[in-house]
Amino acid sequence: PSEFTGKHVTVAGLGVSGVPAAKVLHGLGARVTVVNDGDDERARTQAAELEALGVTVRLGDGDTLPEGTELIVTAPGWKPTKPLFTAAGQAGVPVWGDVELAWRLRGLDGRKAAPWLAVTGTNGKTTTVQMLASILKAAGLRTAAVGNIGVSLLDAVTGEEEYDVLAVELSSYQLHWAPSLRAHSAAVLNLAPDHLDWHGSMEAYAADKGRIYEGNRVACVYNVADKATEDLVRAADVEEGCRAIGFTLGTPGPSQLGVVEGLLVDRAFVEDRQKNAQELAEVSDVNPPAPHNIANALAAAGLARAFGVSAAAVRDGLRAFTPDAHRIAHVADVDGVAYVDDSKATNTHATEASLAAYESIVWIAGGLAKGATFDELVTGAAKRLRGAVLIGADRALIREALARHAPEVPVVDLDRTDTGAMLQAVQEARRLARPGDTVLLAPACASMDMFTNYNQRGDAFAQAVRELGA
Ligand code: ADP
Repeated sequence: PSEFTGKHVTVAGLGVSGVPAAKVLHGLGARVTVVNDGDDERARTQAAELEALGVTVRLGDGDTLPEGTELIVTAPGWKPTKPLFTAAGQAGVPVWGDVELAWRLRGLDGRKAAPWLAVTGTNGKTTTVQMLASILKAAGLRTAAVGNIGVSLLDAVTGEEEYDVLAVELSSYQLHWAPSLRAHSAAVLNLAPDHLDWHGSMEAYAADKGRIYEGNRVACVYNVADKATEDLVRAADVEEGCRAIGFTLGTPGPSQLGVVEGLLVDRAFVEDRQKNAQELAEVSDVNPPAPHNIANALAAAGLARAFGVSAAAVRDGLRAFTPDAHRIAHVADVDGVAYVDDSKATNTHATEASLAAYESIVWIAGGLAKGATFDELVTGAAKRLRGAVLIGADRALIREALARHAPEVPVVDLDRTDTGAMLQAVQEARRLARPGDTVLLAPACASMDMFTNYNQRGDAFAQAVRELGA
């Protein structure tokens, strides 16, 4: 028996986190009811699978709190303002997210509870977690990159595989719903407005991100260039002896990691007491060696070093790392123009980083803006824009920002959202481009108005580029 045996647990939301959560809880003897807003084909298939196990499922009714509920386990994306949570609050029912559930299930059945090295931030989470896992592996540790990509958290803590340490990516939503999470060490990479419609305000968003530092044991890793991340460290309640460790693209101060003459160096966890800095790797060991990615590498190195990993393993792990698809991926050169897929640039902060990496750009952008504004982004990039092709639901916001801050840049506004729109966008971009330019898909928006996700958007772009070349 476990604390879940016989407990009435309501799982809020089917889907990537809900179905596995319902199965695990059911397996632990809980009396599970799943509530779901939608009632479509996919939901019915998932429901049938769960019902066959003996789980109750209510489709098309995600806002009624089932009678007798003692605990809600919610999909992280569900908004805190939903009526279901208001009802839970009134009834005194606790609400956990998928991360909270995974955290509580660590060490169940006497299995080893691996510590977590946790990463959040507006951009760079997946990349950093993968770099970190690569470094930990190079050190001979049993580990996995856990989160959005790779192993799911619930699998990592309840599956057969045993780990020494986990490299865990956490979103602001997940952190919102994870009150008792206590990482070994954690990093906030950067903080820019994103998902504000969900969190309600920038302050609330920052506060949710900051939860990642709560109770850290060894190190809180922050971005020296992003003061908001340092403020979160200061505000956090950590274990005694836990240190604040900064990373910077410049020369590192004491207790910082940074860059000196083409080398990544560590001045926080120095192995040789005679020295005041430890060389870790060369900048050219980072793939790709773009500034924002070097920052990711330093953050990953900081967490690994906090876990006691050697400088040599940091270098080996960075060398072994290759980035995932749709993150500044070079697709092809056609007629002297490079075509680059950064479909993963779903917000202005990421897009700013990729626009900064090229000299003369035909920019393909647009989609769902999620409450963002584009004035700053367009102002910063104006000089490097050869032209812009706009797609998607909220493209008018970008068009207006371009008209305000870069009126000389030619803009093609594509008023269509069907699947052929990307091919036309690429053709228009080709017309605007000159040899030596880069056609860059960096939408600064989410993709769901036109595509299933950013992967599909990036694939559509790559396919369109191949058709150009054909
Ligand atoms: P996340 O998991 O946080 O979404 P990814 O590693 O998948 O982050 O990268 C998302 C996007 O952000 C990509 O478009 C990438 O080019 C950009 N990016 C990656 N790291 C950074 C960073 N440190 N600062 C700004 N943008 C970044």
